[in-house]
Amino acid sequence: MTTKASLFVISGPSGSGKSSLIADVLKDLDNFEKSISATTRSIRRGEKDGVQYHFISKEDFEKQVGECSFLEWAEYSGYYYGTPKKFVDDKLAAGVNVILEIEVQGAMQVMESRTCAYYIFIVATTTGELRERLLKRGTDSPAEIEKRMVIAEEELKYKKHYDCIIVNNNYNEALQNLKDVLLGTVGGNKH
Ligand code: 5GP
Repeated sequence: MTTKASLFVISGPSGSGKSSLIADVLKDLDNFEKSISATTRSIRRGEKDGVQYHFISKEDFEKQVGECSFLEWAEYSGYYYGTPKKFVDDKLAAGVNVILEIEVQGAMQVMESRTCAYYIFIVATTTGELRERLLKRGTDSPAEIEKRMVIAEEELKYKKHYDCIIVNNNYNEALQNLKDVLLGTVGGNKH
């Protein structure tokens, strides 16, 4: 019997640790891939075009929106972010499980069209901890961090729509939980 590939949507406030958790869990899992989004935000130190994101212009992004190339897209902190539909569908058709790391507005759009997907929300224990992680990460200006903290408050209101919540106060435990959820759900054991 062949197992059907699954789509996983992972959200969580900036600083919740979701990018690190996803990057680390992928090292341990075969047959899972993370979709690479397109964004109009500037490339950060240490990032590479085509690796973390496809960094594109606003015009290009809007053109792709017009061509319905995105499975979902949203504006976050003044920039556009979108998931390339073809990449996701080609991978799923080839039997590869796909992970989307996207913010909540995008996740709500995916919920409308992909009811079989599995939705995971990652949280840090406190907002103080969130701010501290963003400061430590050192990739955003103080003004950008404050903007992200305001968005985080809004994002937390959406966690009730997700199938599962992973609390990241102990990194290794959160990593193991994420791995268990991904492996336990693959193939459509959603409910
Ligand atoms: P960052 O600028 O920190 O890389 O990402 C900002 C937010 O955008 C994060 O919550 C991230 O998960 C989200 N994001 C990244 N790619 C996408 C996407 O394709 N669509 C949506 N809706 N959000 C995305």
